[in-house]
Amino acid sequence: MSRFVDRVTIHIAAGDGGNGCASVHREKFKPLGGPDGGNGGRGGDVRLVVDSGVHTLLDFHHRPHASASNGKPGKGGHRNGAIGEDLILPVPDGTVVLTEDGEVLADLIGPGTTFVAAEAGRGGLGNAALASKARKAPGFALLGEPGEQLDLVLELKSVADAGLLGFPSAGKSSLISVVSAAKPKIADYPFTTLAPNLGVVTAGETVFTLADVPGLIPGASEGRGLGLDFLRHIERCAVLVHVVDCATMEPGRDPLSDVDALESELARYTPALQGEHGDLADRPRLVVLNKIDVPEARELADLIRPDLEARGLRVFEVSTASHEGLRELTFALAEEVERYRASLPEPEPARVVVRPHAIGDSGFTIETDPEDDAAFVVRGEKPERWVRQTQFDNDEAVGFLADRLAKLGVEEALGRAGAEPGSQVTIGSVTFDWEPSTPAGVAAMLSGRGTDNRLDSTDRVGASERKAAKKARRSHLDEEGGYIGDAGAEEDA
Ligand code: GDP
Ligand code: MG
Repeated sequence: MSRFVDRVTIHIAAGDGGNGCASVHREKFKPLGGPDGGNGGRGGDVRLVVDSGVHTLLDFHHRPHASASNGKPGKGGHRNGAIGEDLILPVPDGTVVLTEDGEVLADLIGPGTTFVAAEAGRGGLGNAALASKARKAPGFALLGEPGEQLDLVLELKSVADAGLLGFPSAGKSSLISVVSAAKPKIADYPFTTLAPNLGVVTAGETVFTLADVPGLIPGASEGRGLGLDFLRHIERCAVLVHVVDCATMEPGRDPLSDVDALESELARYTPALQGEHGDLADRPRLVVLNKIDVPEARELADLIRPDLEARGLRVFEVSTASHEGLRELTFALAEEVERYRASLPEPEPARVVVRPHAIGDSGFTIETDPEDDAAFVVRGEKPERWVRQTQFDNDEAVGFLADRLAKLGVEEALGRAGAEPGSQVTIGSVTFDWEPSTPAGVAAMLSGRGTDNRLDSTDRVGASERKAAKKARRSHLDEEGGYIGDAGAEEDA
């Protein structure tokens, strides 16, 4: 069944991690008491959580930008920075999350179902956590990482809660435009020639959608006009509303027979609906007598009201021009919508939907620039993260980065790939002139030329470096690269 699709693009930013702190404990008579800089706190995630009280994407149309808070920086005296608060964005049940290219990331079903939409940046380690035997008092700390920032598309396929029925020019479009706060963009609709008109109405605590369902004409149940497609469309509305024009009746028509004509179409359609949502004929309905700002229209409305009520219909006299009677109408609709929602079956249980991550990304790749074979690009989760964590105006911090890269085998691999001192190497957003700093890097560089008889010895060096890298990978720091709750000090190999 085709339905309305409400679609919105949101721009979200998770919180940045706080920077680690470089500090040295000072006391009288004990000038060098050791490093005591605390770790930066992790930022907050942006999470989408299904909330049974939310029924539209309206809030996102109003506020498409959202960001979680940043982690706080670490401080001296081993004080860790506070963790940033997660931002929870409530979404309706059945919200589909997509990339801007249309790739489906998650289908959020069941209240409480959670999707981490933007992941927070890690906090940077402070110099206390970076201290090791080889580096007793580091004069630097790691930077916090930026939180993820991205655009996502949210889509909600929904049937309008309330459907408007009525002959052309009864005032259906006008009614939607005066009672609704927003008109979500409708991405897809079964009828190509007639654009539907959908609005979101707030009445007290209840938010519901109201749609003009165009094209119900006598004979629809036999396939005339938009026929069965149209009727199928209103199958799941909580309430149906007859909109009657009391001001400009054409000769030979009267409001009561208009209502009757549409009612008989609904009744005739009923057999096709049995089983799934019950009889359409049993669906609550209201009658709106419109245009009562026109004196003759008010008279006609007063005249026919008793007949309609005798048929068991609730009647609302309104004017979309003067706004008379609209509040009573929207509250009555909200009441019907709430009753219908309460009658729906129990929702599915909550799940946590995890965004697929690149798996097993503990390594890296090296590519040469096709334009310039002396330029190299290193790609990999760890090398790129380490670069982001580095304070490049601090030589010690840069040295620490070089050690980490060497341990992972990046230097050696660069050498094998043909990098020479002075070659341009890009990792993430940073490009630098390569200077091999370890024996492995130098040796690999030499062996990379392929003519040297020191090849044997370089292989031995390479092996021992690989061992060191393996050991480093096991350490807390290399797995996580930042503070995640406990401050594991790095073991220097
Ligand atoms: P629809 O075909 O049912 O969507 O009807 P529209 O909303 O397009 O309205 C048809 C015509 O009726 C338009 O010219 C509106 O300005 C007019 N109209 C709608 N509501 C009122 C009303 O409350 N009072 C008066 N006087 N005119 C109205
Ligand atoms: Mg219209």
